Amino acid sequence: MHDLHTHSLCSDGILRPQALVSRAKMQGVTVLALTDHDTVVGLEEAREAAQVEGIQVLSGIEFSCLWNGIGIHIVGLNIDPEHPEMQAAVARQGESRENRAIQIGEKLAKAGIPGALEGARAKAGDAVIGRPHFAQYLVESGRVSSMNAAFKKYLGAGKVGDVKQVWPSVPVAVEWILAAGGVAVIAHPDKYKMTRTKLGRLIDDFTEAGGQAMEVISGYQTPDLTRNLAQIANKHGLYASCGSDFHVPDQPWQELGNFSALPPECRPVWELWS
Ligand SMILES: [Zn+2]
Ligand SMILES: [Zn+2]
Repeated sequence: MHDLHTHSLCSDGILRPQALVSRAKMQGVTVLALTDHDTVVGLEEAREAAQVEGIQVLSGIEFSCLWNGIGIHIVGLNIDPEHPEMQAAVARQGESRENRAIQIGEKLAKAGIPGALEGARAKAGDAVIGRPHFAQYLVESGRVSSMNAAFKKYLGAGKVGDVKQVWPSVPVAVEWILAAGGVAVIAHPDKYKMTRTKLGRLIDDFTEAGGQAMEVISGYQTPDLTRNLAQIANKHGLYASCGSDFHVPDQPWQELGNFSALPPECRPVWELWS
């Protein structure tokens, strides 16, 4: 069984790539894609672990993009992580996250919380630094009682640490993925809470840029939603992908391999490379 959307601690997951691969094997996954946010650093370890475990690991990534003011995630599957354009894309995303982190740190310092950048960096370790790391620091330094409170008080929209990030457009992210020989996939289309018309417009822009697939299954979801998404994918001539969007153990609705099969009327995305 294919699980084509997962995260390790190289972005905002908590398992090492190697532990992720072992867990996937235990869960009955035979083809796993590691799709960390805006980074490819975990892929080598995952591929090595895959050889030990005897499962297949596909190189993947999940790019954050902006489309009409809405944050959209585009997954790249079966990419060449060493491709110069992919390397440049990852460097660009990393720089933009880094700049944002510095700005958040400065703003929090001005608001009387010095050392937040260093604290968040320590939390991030090797991972790409992001707002969750600031939130963790704020919790552990006793400024707030929970991650939620950190966002409500300091990091969320309109708060002192709210710094907008410069994300690429959807067509640009699709181009990066295609340049690296991969297949572009619209991640978890239901999460954007768009009307069907608006989602249709997103798909049009995506396919025009060369995007070919959409997640019809993202973790646990109702059969109604699956039918709906399958219909939308077929109407737009998109291949269908499926994945758990696994981040941490103990969340059964996002557990590795724990989701229903693609409906028979869908064309599975793996037909594009097998
Ligand atoms: Zn996502
Ligand atoms: Zn994800």
